[in-house]
Amino acid sequence: MNTQQSIYGLTRDQLAAWLLAHGHRKGRAELLWESLYRKRLTTFEDMDEVHSDCLRLVEEHFAVETLGEHVRQESVDGTIKFLFRLQDGNLIETVLMRHKFGLSVCVTTQVGCNIGCSFCASGLLKKSRDLTSGEIVEQVMKVQLHLDRQGKDERVTHIVVMGIGEPFDNYDHVTDFLRVIQDPKGLAIGPRHITVSTSGLADKIVEFADSDLQVNLAISLHAPNNELRTRIMKINRAIPLEKLMAAIDYYLSKTRRRLTIEYILLKDVNDGTEQALELAELLGERFVNVNLIPYNPVDEHGQYQRSEHGSVLAFYDVLKKQGLSVSVRLEHGADIDAACGQLRSKQLSR
Ligand code: SAH
Ligand code: SF4
Repeated sequence: MNTQQSIYGLTRDQLAAWLLAHGHRKGRAELLWESLYRKRLTTFEDMDEVHSDCLRLVEEHFAVETLGEHVRQESVDGTIKFLFRLQDGNLIETVLMRHKFGLSVCVTTQVGCNIGCSFCASGLLKKSRDLTSGEIVEQVMKVQLHLDRQGKDERVTHIVVMGIGEPFDNYDHVTDFLRVIQDPKGLAIGPRHITVSTSGLADKIVEFADSDLQVNLAISLHAPNNELRTRIMKINRAIPLEKLMAAIDYYLSKTRRRLTIEYILLKDVNDGTEQALELAELLGERFVNVNLIPYNPVDEHGQYQRSEHGSVLAFYDVLKKQGLSVSVRLEHGADIDAACGQLRSKQLSR
């Protein structure tokens, strides 16, 4: 199998350093960068502003395209789900969503996920490997190139790291990815337009708070006490709420940024007003927004159902009355299996 490293995996500084080490000055890195992210050329041949010696060298070591489009599904609401084939044959998914405020892309960070949450389609498939930073950036580029081809001058404005995988279990590649997509001379996606979601790896939350990345963070909490959280997310056994809340407090005091608390509503499991009160008590005065997520049913997890509309409203009201900032996540592409991991798991079982 011919596998090559994706050029998208390098930050602008890393690209300049690599070229310098191979005898090319910085200006060439800048031209190459511009060809990749501003002109969005996908073959080295077309990058005629870059010196041919430099291109030849780069081509020996890197590829521009490493993802192949396997399936693309478009929803009536404009959501597009892409299933990409990696060089090793693995399939991953990426979703483009349309909002009033812009276009967001949800990226995958691992092939499968080892956290194994009981309600999630991604956790059904154990992690077979981490994605490289290049493979994560390329998902965004592939979506942007698709938009470019439509000729409507649309740009990806927001990124959510909420596809298959636990981003903090692939920390270095994910943070390189975040640096590449923010580069002002590249895709220039602002840090406040980017959200990383984690199942709660406390040590990495602390490391993230200490880093210079100004990106938003979301925590998949999903339950207000250890007993319930361990039942639906087994990671809670290794990292119980006390440890997670301590990491959250560290993050809040260090960054002073509002944190998102994700809470999936599972009928008769965690969606009672009792749990809403317990959640409000757990969160207290912290600077957070609670994002209530309607459960997207997964065939293999038949024990869970989506909460009734009335329960969602009641849960919302309790949190509001307790003084919390709350939102309900809008659904996108319900007609095309847009819940994370669903299209991929269906394709694999076929
Ligand atoms: N691994 C990370 C990020 C990927 S999952 C995490 O768990 O946070 C992104 C979000 O989708 C998480 O909040 C996750 O709990 C939620 N999710 C997983 N399966 C879902 C489903 N079937 N319906 C609705 N949300 C789901
Ligand atoms: Fe992994 Fe997130 Fe799914 Fe849990 S919810 S199994 S951490 S992808």
